[in-house]
Amino acid sequence: MLTGFRPTGPMHIGHWFGNVMNLVRLQEDHEAFYFLADWHMLTTHYDRTEELPENVRTLALDLVAAGVDPNRVTFYRQSDVKEVAELTLLLGMITPLGWLERVPTYKERLRDMAERDVANFGLLGYPVLQTVDITIVKGELIPVGEDQVSHVELTRELVRRFNRHYGDVLVEPRALLSNAPSVPGSDGRKMSKSLDNTIDVRDDEATIRRKVRSFITDPMKVRLGDPGRPDICPIFALHRLFSQDIYEWTRENCSTGALPCVDCKTNLADRIVAYYAPFRDRREELERTPGVAEKILADGREKVGPVVEETMKAVRTAMNLA
Ligand code: SF4
Repeated sequence: MLTGFRPTGPMHIGHWFGNVMNLVRLQEDHEAFYFLADWHMLTTHYDRTEELPENVRTLALDLVAAGVDPNRVTFYRQSDVKEVAELTLLLGMITPLGWLERVPTYKERLRDMAERDVANFGLLGYPVLQTVDITIVKGELIPVGEDQVSHVELTRELVRRFNRHYGDVLVEPRALLSNAPSVPGSDGRKMSKSLDNTIDVRDDEATIRRKVRSFITDPMKVRLGDPGRPDICPIFALHRLFSQDIYEWTRENCSTGALPCVDCKTNLADRIVAYYAPFRDRREELERTPGVAEKILADGREKVGPVVEETMKAVRTAMNLA
């Protein structure tokens, strides 16, 4: 099983529940490869490389503090595996341009980032790089949400095309659907750094409380005593993740109007702060150990090396490049 994390900035609770907790569970009974996708980041953030080393280091420590176990999984940095660039070039030779141009996320990114100059070869070729990440470690299972199944489909097509040309060399992966919840941000839209609506897992207590206070609620619940509609309220959606102890109580008291939003938010903030306290302790301990992220990623590079080399030997031989 393989998955990558883009080091684009602080981890937020949307990442935590939408992805990270799932991967912490999956590492228990899969041979897992988790990598920090720093080359992926360049497809849209090529002009911000000064942030990259620190983003990689902090993401590595965040993931380990969250429960990713580097002794159990092969945990590495993408750009440490230079063979990824070699195989990307080789796969690029047989990738039809039309396949890449019709990838919906390519057009979406161009639209969403219209103010920035991202219509580049790197962004168009992103699915090739993704295919290489998977196939170079013989990835079979790719944990994805429903909206990313088409990416895995493209990888499968590309693998079949390669194998048709050069023999049965690359492994065809399949999607492992996760039903992780979509986490709303402060404006009610999906939590996302680019929308500036996040609560980050390393936010301190005061910041968590301030951010929770800034969340929108049911717009119909204006005055004290007005009944609310918890099912359309992002605060209630977060209660589902953090407040099992008062979840039904909150639903009931919101619906009758007995619970003021300000109290409801305080209840939530209390629970978010308590939930992340052990994580923050582990994270601080890691931060105090000099060079720990570098050591973890160097070990990961060593572990992934033989797998990658085996794939590349087979590819070079099959393409008469050995
Ligand atoms: S009481 Fe809570 S769940 Fe109900 S609208 Fe207010 S913040 Fe949302």
